[in-house]
Amino acid sequence: MATPMTPTQWLRALRAEGVTCIVEMPGWRTNSRNHKGPWGPVHAAMIHHTAGEGPGLSRLCFTGTPQLPGPLCHDYLDRAGRLYLVGSGRANHAGTVAQNAFTAVLNGRAAHPAPDAAEPIDGNRHSYGLECENSGALGREWTPAQYDVAVRVQAARCRHHGWSANSVWAHREATRRKPVDPRLNMGALRAAVAARLAHPANWNPNDAKDDDMPRRSNPKVKPVKRRPGGQWLTVPLSGGLVTGPADYSGTVFLRLSGVPAGAPIQTRYVETTSGKRSKNGPAVEHVGTEGDTFIAVTNGGGHVDSAAVLSVEYIVFDDADTHTLVSGQAQVLYWK
Ligand SMILES: [Zn+2]
Repeated sequence: MATPMTPTQWLRALRAEGVTCIVEMPGWRTNSRNHKGPWGPVHAAMIHHTAGEGPGLSRLCFTGTPQLPGPLCHDYLDRAGRLYLVGSGRANHAGTVAQNAFTAVLNGRAAHPAPDAAEPIDGNRHSYGLECENSGALGREWTPAQYDVAVRVQAARCRHHGWSANSVWAHREATRRKPVDPRLNMGALRAAVAARLAHPANWNPNDAKDDDMPRRSNPKVKPVKRRPGGQWLTVPLSGGLVTGPADYSGTVFLRLSGVPAGAPIQTRYVETTSGKRSKNGPAVEHVGTEGDTFIAVTNGGGHVDSAAVLSVEYIVFDDADTHTLVSGQAQVLYWK
């Protein structure tokens, strides 16, 4: 038992669910068949395909035909993922539907049985309807953008009414008259709606995947002249390297001049928390070469503690001379 949403409630629910490309067709708020039959209580959200594709479909959905006057749905979703608001109220989208199919959505059952032949239920009274642009031809895929919005639209209705994803049904699940409407894996669609309903309305499923992708840190080494030997020296960078908590992997490349050939050099990653040294990584040994000395300070799998700042240090074991930190660059990937 649910009172149909008002146009204002529907717009608000769509925006909360992250539907950004919305076309309000002029007059959609009062476009209905309420003068021809009852509207509500609503119990389900139906999905359809248009069985045709092209630019005139939003208009067709709005006005219908002499034989089947509009609105022919509540919303029309094109292949680009644009959602047209077509009507609010009773719409000519479902026609009559089977009792067993209706009972399934009414009770939020996971199983949606093959519809009986008899159709005693007024589907246009009890179900919202989303029309989606698709030819219905075998193998004609929905675009990812279109599918994403279809899931959001159905989730927005279920969320508003407190329904589970089991209240989403296909036209073909409601009547034998429309056996391929739409050619969509409804189990997968309902699972996607259920996943949305398990999260806040502003959830974006791709965010979780993005978190698994590493971020890149590539600050440059700032040159410093006349650096002393015999003490640990910070490698100054043009920007932050990594701030914890994070795992990281990468290399800071250094070019030094004035280091005597054969002079030992050690490098290490260190962490600083609130300005104080909180961790010294293991030192790695290098050696000065003829001409400039090129060093790769590598850590294949480090972890930076929470609120700690990662940096690199080196020490040249040569008390007699000063050297120059000429250049360098970090090439570090990290995962927050
Ligand atoms: Zn249909």
